[in-house]
Amino acid sequence: MNELFPIDQQRRASDWPEAARQIRGAGARQRFLVGALLVNVAALAIDVAVLDPRHLAVAAGLRLLLVTPLVLLALTLNRRPADRPLQAVIQATAVVVFTLSVTAIGQFAPEPFAGRYMMSALFVVFAGALVSALSWRTTKIMTVTATVLYALIVVSGLRWPPAWANIDLVGLSLVTCVVGLRARRRKEAQIAELVAIRRSDARLKRDLRRANAALEQLSATDALTGVFNRRYLDDLIEQETASLVPSLGQSVLMIDVDHFKLFNDHGGHAAGDRCLQQIVTAIRRNLRSCDVVVRYGGEEFAVVLPGLDESELQETAERLCHAVSNLKIAHPGLGDGGVVTISVGIAPAVPAETLAHAIQRADQSLYRAKHSGRNRVSA
Ligand code: GH3
Ligand code: MG
Ligand code: MG
Repeated sequence: MNELFPIDQQRRASDWPEAARQIRGAGARQRFLVGALLVNVAALAIDVAVLDPRHLAVAAGLRLLLVTPLVLLALTLNRRPADRPLQAVIQATAVVVFTLSVTAIGQFAPEPFAGRYMMSALFVVFAGALVSALSWRTTKIMTVTATVLYALIVVSGLRWPPAWANIDLVGLSLVTCVVGLRARRRKEAQIAELVAIRRSDARLKRDLRRANAALEQLSATDALTGVFNRRYLDDLIEQETASLVPSLGQSVLMIDVDHFKLFNDHGGHAAGDRCLQQIVTAIRRNLRSCDVVVRYGGEEFAVVLPGLDESELQETAERLCHAVSNLKIAHPGLGDGGVVTISVGIAPAVPAETLAHAIQRADQSLYRAKHSGRNRVSA
């Protein structure tokens, strides 16, 4: 039957186990089997109405002693994952037997009911192909078997010599077989396509989220030194202003490189850039991971340090000062032995004070550090 279907449909369907799960899941099989069970039992009412007592006994036997137990067995096995292949065989057999029982019962029914039974049997074949929720291979074998046996029954009329009366139904059964299998295959391919679209959609969303996060990170960091930029600090200040929770206050350090214009003038801008990077590395090494370093502008940095008391803040600021002077970066504008240093202004945390105000205080402290000689910490 494979040649009935385009190669891409065959490949797509087999490529997507998730689609297969959707179309052949235990839940789908369960629904199909319960439906078959109900139809089989309900149809007994029609048998009672149209069959004579002798044939009614045969019909009831077929429905209640053959089809019903088979469907119930398939239903029971469907609940046990270990019994999958056996369940598939039993379910396929149930569909074939159901089809043939309806066809056989139709042979006993008077016209015009006989034809309706045989059409109903074809409906079972079609429904079996489309919604039985079995694997494609099992569905093919089941549908072709049911069609061939159906054709044999309707042609022979269960008599010898054959009646040949219903030969037209053979054509109809072949059409039902092909159309049912094609519909099933197309459904599978469409679900596979849907699953592929959903997957690529999820992938795109994930990539977009990552790109956004990277972009956000990029827009918040300084390209030269890798620390946060002024925009990030402004956002922090804005968020704090918008917050309804009163601030606990935050310690702030304001750091400025000493005589940096002179450094650039004598050493060149590129050396100045490298110097800034070295200074930032030294500063970060001497801070905790929770401390936020921001390039405030040019050669000036602000550090926000949560949870430090005044003496800890003073210690931290001095550690940073020493760390930079210990780098011993020769300052080309300060003559022999001159090294790059920083001045640090400190603003210890004051409860309920805004970050913007703490930054202002640290800036004033920095001004004092500059004016009292540089390379020092001032409060
Ligand atoms: P002070 O000790 O008073 O702070 O003196 P200063 O020379 O450091 O201060 P001033 O504000 O006069 O000069 C700052 C210099 O920092 C000027 C500018 O060329 C330099 N600068 C600012 N941003 C950068 C940068 O990204 N790269 C380099 N190489 N230099 C920068
Ligand atoms: Mg400076
Ligand atoms: Mg400056």
